Amino acid sequence: MPLQIYNTLTRRKEPFQPLEPGKVRMYVCGVTVYNDCHLGHARSYIVWDIVRRYLQWRDYTVQYVQNFTDIDDKIIRRSQEEDIPWQALTHKYINAYLEDMGRLNVLPADAYPKATEVIPEIVDLIETLIEQDCAYAVAGDVYYAVERFPSYGKLSGRKLDQMEAGASGRVDEEEARKRHPFDFALWKAAKPGEPEWESPWGMGRPGWHIECSAMVKKLLGDRIDIHTGGEDLVFPHHENEIAQSEAATTKPLANVWMHNGFVKIRGDKMSKSLKNFTTIRSLLETTDPMVVRLFVLQAHYRSPIDFTDEAIKGAENGWKTLEEGLKFFDQVSKLPNWSNNPPDSLDPESVERFNAAMDDDFNTSGGLAVLFELAKDLRREKNLLSHEGKTTTPTEQLHQKWWTLIDLMCVLGLMKKRPEISELEMGSSTGTELGLSDIEIDALIQQRQDARKAKNFAESDRLRDELVANGITLIDQPSGMTRWYRN
Ligand SMILES: [Zn+2]
Repeated sequence: MPLQIYNTLTRRKEPFQPLEPGKVRMYVCGVTVYNDCHLGHARSYIVWDIVRRYLQWRDYTVQYVQNFTDIDDKIIRRSQEEDIPWQALTHKYINAYLEDMGRLNVLPADAYPKATEVIPEIVDLIETLIEQDCAYAVAGDVYYAVERFPSYGKLSGRKLDQMEAGASGRVDEEEARKRHPFDFALWKAAKPGEPEWESPWGMGRPGWHIECSAMVKKLLGDRIDIHTGGEDLVFPHHENEIAQSEAATTKPLANVWMHNGFVKIRGDKMSKSLKNFTTIRSLLETTDPMVVRLFVLQAHYRSPIDFTDEAIKGAENGWKTLEEGLKFFDQVSKLPNWSNNPPDSLDPESVERFNAAMDDDFNTSGGLAVLFELAKDLRREKNLLSHEGKTTTPTEQLHQKWWTLIDLMCVLGLMKKRPEISELEMGSSTGTELGLSDIEIDALIQQRQDARKAKNFAESDRLRDELVANGITLIDQPSGMTRWYRN
């Protein structure tokens, strides 16, 4: 059975077939950068990271693009409240996002386009839509005419004639300009004091939905294999992306649409008003990032997950089990014929079961069950070796199982990478502490620079010590820049 993926568009699981053999073009809707990311973001981007890693494990080359929305009403409002330029605000939260995701071991995207970097492509796309009579300009705004796209509603299952606009019947100025209540803005005329760009319709800025259509087309082409996002994006965002892209290109935008479920906090929907809004930062103060990953992976990506103390406890216990399995390495000197080289092949039975689970629409809890079994076997063998100095299982089998555990942990992003033989020979940790990633190092250096600017030298020294302890040498340049290398 090939990989099966649930497609929101067709409402069923389908065998995955890429447009081009061996290649996957994948687009993920990213964050609007005006505040810190929360647990819902952590779940979403961990899930898409797993999809990407698993496709790579199954020998696909994956091109992974994820945007940053760096201009919108919330960004403008926040920058006015904080009295800082919007560019400074978005720069700060883009860095914060990259740092949070680095800590959660989410691989960086191949490209992170920003809305403000694709204004020419956005203007081109809007012009095409106007030529096709799918969009119209009114008083400096441009709207998409939903009635001109006959399959509008196909992703969310809504039908225009059954949809109702605001119940009050009261319409504001913007509503009054639209031909149909569900027409949406492609371009918005600038209000005084707002960031603005030139366009054939006057100074203004793009609406939210159009950027993704323009970015997909620019970076991945007219058609892609997988388009993903949180389930709250199905309508209107993804419905509108389909309407924009498919009207302009007359081709299907994405073959597979994937959406992940919500995170609930102790049974309630997470929201700012309920004050149960957990940022990734505050969560990582008390919880190991890999425990957060395990918490996410224990559930199927389409189901809601409930963030409770028990669920985190469960993930912590799972993490301990995996770590104990890896610590089997501490006893291998007692085994005859142990080699630090990886085996020619992994444990076939474990790999087959892991793949079977993951091929079923990324059943990560089924995949994890295989990892836990391997870890428990290795823990038992480790105890035998430590108490009796020997085990009855052949070294070759144990060697294969230990490496299989490592490689499958890498597929699920629970380890950074397979350890090098030299790392094993030096007796360095075989566990999960395989050093900081480049993104993490850059983020720590940035924090240290911020601390120095704020004359918080205790903090800047602490950050330098942390980097040094991780084998990183820093060279402060006269220009104020810091260069680094690994020892
Ligand atoms: Zn999008």
